[in-house]
Amino acid sequence: MQNSQKEGIVISNASELYLGPVSNYEPIYSNEIPDAVVIKNGLIEAIGETSTILSNYSKFDYEIIDCKKKKTVCPSFVDSHTHLVFAGDRSHELRMKIQGKSYLEIAQSGGGIMFSVNKTREASKLELEALALKRLDEMLLHGTTTIEAKSGYGLDAKSEIKILEVIQSVNEKHPIDIVPTFLGCHIKPADYLGNQWEYIESMIQLLPQIKHQNLAEYVDIWTDKGAFSVEESQHFLNESKKMGFKLRIHADELENVGAALMAAELEAVSADHLLFAEAVSASALAQSQVVANLLPATPFVLMLKKYANYRMFKDAGVEVALSSDFNPNCYILDMQSVIGLGSFMMKMLPEEALRAATYGGAKALNRENEIGSLDIGKKADVLILDIPSVASIPYRFGINHTDTVFKDGKIIVKEGKKITN
Ligand SMILES: [Zn+2]
Repeated sequence: MQNSQKEGIVISNASELYLGPVSNYEPIYSNEIPDAVVIKNGLIEAIGETSTILSNYSKFDYEIIDCKKKKTVCPSFVDSHTHLVFAGDRSHELRMKIQGKSYLEIAQSGGGIMFSVNKTREASKLELEALALKRLDEMLLHGTTTIEAKSGYGLDAKSEIKILEVIQSVNEKHPIDIVPTFLGCHIKPADYLGNQWEYIESMIQLLPQIKHQNLAEYVDIWTDKGAFSVEESQHFLNESKKMGFKLRIHADELENVGAALMAAELEAVSADHLLFAEAVSASALAQSQVVANLLPATPFVLMLKKYANYRMFKDAGVEVALSSDFNPNCYILDMQSVIGLGSFMMKMLPEEALRAATYGGAKALNRENEIGSLDIGKKADVLILDIPSVASIPYRFGINHTDTVFKDGKIIVKEGKKITN
């Protein structure tokens, strides 16, 4: 822990220091390669070369963490698309997936999304909390300090509210910051008797309570073939917008139905998945400054050949985020693996993937002024990785490289282990 006698912490001699986009830090001289960061009062106080920094911030006043040119320092990860809260384990479905059984066949044999929905409806708040806290610990140990978490495995009024209350409660208990999203319109549940419009109305009726209890900052809807149409989604999103909710959208994952264009039109904060989005959608997203939130773990676990077209969004000038899409069908909590998939499956350069997993994620949650890059005055959410370079994150795939995690300037993971206090 930070020694309370000291004024702050200096992280020195990073083998690589990845800052991300910065506007407040200016190098003292043109060829300065910063390898040190100073943390004070929970914020980034200074950035620079170790020799200069140590002459201004002495070991008498500051705790020094020396990376000895062996460890990489970067902003901690922001996972901007997760379905954190659900019950039930679907590992048994993997066999069927590998044997080529379709989604429909899996659903007919009692699996798929309704399996998770039923287990989640049956689970108590305490059970859901325990599951969520364990998952959050795993995320933290892999270097994530802020996530977005959606409801969407309740799909009825009572269970959707229950999930949002669980998200609110674990947010208070766990050091990871959670941005909550209401995804009552994930799909129309198989056991709902009315039509699709009636289901949407039933979810719209929950909005005042969600607002009143401060249970969600965002709403989300899945706009796609087999999910909700653009027309239905527009209705739900417009009603939500009127009540002051910000918007994010599961868009064009299975087919190009115009969901990304709708996201641009409604000025959503992010459009997510986007496997089938085309160039015209990319320019619309750029124009409206909607973040393209790409989730390569999903096509990976679905064993698809198709991934979102990162380069198309990048070239159109869209800010790209990378996130896990952690859900019962995609049990990936680790953003280092997501960066690996971004590099190997979507041809993102390691620094592009890291930017998307930090600054891009922060922008996808409207928090890019506070977190997502190491800049003077920003929150000290910082990661020390036990690898020589940023490129080692994807290159040394499947290994947890986390050494130290700082949240608001406090060390909460040390030598890869969570500090309990
Ligand atoms: Zn999702």
